[in-house]
Amino acid sequence: MAECLFCRIAAKEIPAQVVYEDELIIAFRDINPQAPVHLLIIPKGHVASVREIDEAHPLVAGRLLRVARDLAKQEGVAESGYRLVVNTGQDAGQAIAHLHLHLLGGRAMGWPPG
Ligand code: 5GP
Ligand code: ZN
Repeated sequence: MAECLFCRIAAKEIPAQVVYEDELIIAFRDINPQAPVHLLIIPKGHVASVREIDEAHPLVAGRLLRVARDLAKQEGVAESGYRLVVNTGQDAGQAIAHLHLHLLGGRAMGWPPG
């Protein structure tokens, strides 16, 4: 989608600190990090949210998690621990309507989230 910010990042039309990329997935640092490690892992193809995941995206969900697992190791937080978050819709505060997995680590985090 031409007007989608994360589609434009995936297309390299808008710069980002990319930490991983393959044919399906791209991961980059959050512009406003909420933890020492804060990455966003997204499918390159436009999927608005978890609500839109369907048969057309058989690989996406599993691949997002596997890339997150590998990036946690790469970023040095695999052992200390990390949080994976997928905000979905209004009550969760989803601001960008392109599916993204937050990977947060490098500090202790409270629960439940606010
Ligand atoms: P959401 O609230 O939709 O789950 O999270 C959106 C995230 O995208 C926020 O953490 C925000 O800081 C991040 N973000 C928004 N605009 C940009 C941008 O232009 N570049 C990068 N790297 N991150 C962004
Ligand atoms: Zn998009």
